[in-house]
Amino acid sequence: MTGHAKRAEARGGGVGAATYAGGMSIKSFAALSATSPLGPFTISRREPLARDVEIDILYCGVCHSDIHFARNEWGFSQYPMVPGHEILGRVTRVGKDVRRFKAGDVAAVGCLVDSCRTCACCVKGEEQFCTGGAVFTYNGPDKHSGGMTFGGYSERIVCDEAFTLKVPTNLDPARAAPLLCAGITTYSPLRRWGAGKGKKVGVVGLGGLGHMGVKFARAFGAHTVLFTTSESKIADGKRLGADEVVISKNADAMAKHSMSFDMILDTVSADHDLNAYLGLLKLDGSMVLVGAPPSPQPVSAFSLLMPRRHLSGSLIGGIRETQEMLDFCGTHNVVCDIELIRMQQINEAYERMLRSDVKYRFVIDMASLKG
Ligand code: NAP
Ligand code: ZN
Ligand code: ZN
Repeated sequence: MTGHAKRAEARGGGVGAATYAGGMSIKSFAALSATSPLGPFTISRREPLARDVEIDILYCGVCHSDIHFARNEWGFSQYPMVPGHEILGRVTRVGKDVRRFKAGDVAAVGCLVDSCRTCACCVKGEEQFCTGGAVFTYNGPDKHSGGMTFGGYSERIVCDEAFTLKVPTNLDPARAAPLLCAGITTYSPLRRWGAGKGKKVGVVGLGGLGHMGVKFARAFGAHTVLFTTSESKIADGKRLGADEVVISKNADAMAKHSMSFDMILDTVSADHDLNAYLGLLKLDGSMVLVGAPPSPQPVSAFSLLMPRRHLSGSLIGGIRETQEMLDFCGTHNVVCDIELIRMQQINEAYERMLRSDVKYRFVIDMASLKG
């Protein structure tokens, strides 16, 4: 089906259309350039194929990656762009070969909609590292339309069953939506680096990712320390599960934790001093970056040499682990702390996130787009 002519028109006022022959017309909000605010836009999605699930989107979380992408801060954005990869909704139709979903089910889509399915990473269930080409939920090459994928700031999505997640029915759907990125991105490294009983784990930054990092580290039984730049977040940090909260701008408070951490999970989206946190790791301790500041962050060799510290990164999680995370949240009743917004408030929400002013994830009520 590749090679359909894709037509993208950018008209004034943020209104336009990206369509291809045979696709369904879907309302969305898009960025048309790195400097334009998001506005109404019409996209096409394919009619469900044999293995596809069609989802009426109820809620979509707002990730800081959406801002990096909408504003081309990482340098590989393509326009028009419809962000959104924390997608939760109700199944409306399924293709004839779909076995795990039926109309009426609650279903979710995270950061991935496809991959090669045969490379070593895919076989291991780590499709996010697919060497044959993972297809990300937006700004990725759409195998079906021949254009780019469009994300969850939209009425509906059509996704292969293999990349569609089941959401435990006891979870509040609006508060579960951000688990699809903020949840798995923190769950996966905390599991991999063994956050648990007897371990001292730091989480840097109390935003969307950070607040889930604190909840999971605590749920796994680790002694959990939150590092924040915001004095106003101390009480919330404790309420969310931190045993201790450190204001990272206070050098004396930082020094008290010197060489004591097994692991530090860094969720910061902007320039900051990594060395200040590396110095808090003990022998063989690991700092894991999940935050993705657009500019390089300098690291002194001496921050790593002694006492033999590790600096690593982690990218979301595979489909199998994302389902495991959702099931864990269902069993332990873990959900996100959110502020519900209308689609039309998205540009204001971006500005508030840039001021670290969100408690702790914006979630779009997609009824506002449909009405
Ligand atoms: P967010 O909600 O905006 O939270 C980021 C937090 O970082 C802020 O709340 C703030 O916490 C802290 N912060 C911001 N600017 C800072 C600065 N200049 N110095 C120190 N701290 C600062 O963002 P998010 O959605 O959690 O995303 C965080 C980052 O992770 C983004 O770069 C995003 O692209 C990336 N990300 C990566 C993955 C992955 O797979 N690796 C997945 C999703 C997102 P305090 O107020 O507590 O200091
Ligand atoms: Zn994200
Ligand atoms: Zn692959």
